[in-house]
Amino acid sequence: AFQTPDKLSRPRRKSDAQFELSPSTNSTVQSPVVPQEEEIMSPADKWKRQREGILKKLPPGVDPKAAKQILNEVVVQGDEVHWSDIAGLEVAKSALRETVVYPFLRPDLFKGLREPARGMLLFGPPGTGKTMLARAVATESKSTFFSISASSLTSKWLGESEKLVRALFALAKVLAPSIIFVDEIDSLLTQRSGRGDHESTLRIKTEFLIQWSDLQRAAAGREVEGVDANASRVLVLAATNLPWAIDEAARRRFVRRQYIPLPEPETRAMQIKTLLKQQKHTLTDADIETLVGLTDGFSGSDITALAKDAAMGPLRSVGDALLHMSMDEIRPIELSDFVASLSTIRPSVSKSSIKKYEDWAKEFGERG
Ligand code: ADP
Repeated sequence: AFQTPDKLSRPRRKSDAQFELSPSTNSTVQSPVVPQEEEIMSPADKWKRQREGILKKLPPGVDPKAAKQILNEVVVQGDEVHWSDIAGLEVAKSALRETVVYPFLRPDLFKGLREPARGMLLFGPPGTGKTMLARAVATESKSTFFSISASSLTSKWLGESEKLVRALFALAKVLAPSIIFVDEIDSLLTQRSGRGDHESTLRIKTEFLIQWSDLQRAAAGREVEGVDANASRVLVLAATNLPWAIDEAARRRFVRRQYIPLPEPETRAMQIKTLLKQQKHTLTDADIETLVGLTDGFSGSDITALAKDAAMGPLRSVGDALLHMSMDEIRPIELSDFVASLSTIRPSVSKSSIKKYEDWAKEFGERG
């Protein structure tokens, strides 16, 4: 076993390290800061102290500069997403609950045959809620959320990337339970790269796969020293709009591959209703049905863009006068505002590419 019995019987909660991570939490868990001193420190200073505490727990060989960069730019804090914020995608949500949330909250139940997968791929057209799902998983499983775009590793951070990848996995273990969310994973695990930076891209890819394998091995209980004991509570969640660009060996490492399709009519209706909830509007259920009919082929983000544009309708109709009008004088949003916006906001995903996703899902994925 890779955890001590006393750890297993303890109710699951955020690790102590994670409590230290958030600048807004304090004192209930031992922290490197002495209470009296803490009271007079600014939040920025507190966070600096906490960060130092986290950095001290890193194993040797991890570049401190890279680790700081990960803590500052990759760890996502605040602005939580919950399941209920995401319209539809019930199959994907339950797959994620079973694969990540429950195992993270009750690791004692998920052993042996029930050992959860260490990686899950979310694939589908852009703007369908993949990022939202990953964020909700982190919230619901009380995990530290690391969010990185693979293309930034191969562009913005090129040169530093291998160090960053090592720091990323090391910090994920220190701050476990952790979700490492890698967006645009295709650009990292690509089949081939025709670009000039081929060699360095290949090195980052290799480092990523090594770190990920180490994690899987450690999670299987074969290496149990130090923070590696936390490996079973680190999961790589990856998203892609180009699943076919991922090479075969890398694809096979994602035991679970979840298709995140365009929203069904009832999901579009649900999302439109949610978006209108806080707004003054006159749309009836019949109007929403009409809208659902007019938004065939729209992604979740297209629907959001449409609703935002339609919400501007009442303001556009009054022009400069809005500067002197009270809130009550602005008319409610109407179906006609949506219809007008439909002339500029069009579906971002073509019918032919949908076919490509469906085919790939049939061959390699699970439907969501
Ligand atoms: P992806 O990662 O699949 O490209 P995101 O999760 O980033 O898409 O979604 C982009 C935006 O579109 C979200 O911020 C949200 O406003 C909207 N959106 C997409 N899918 C949904 C959904 N299922 N429910 C609610 N909003 C959604």
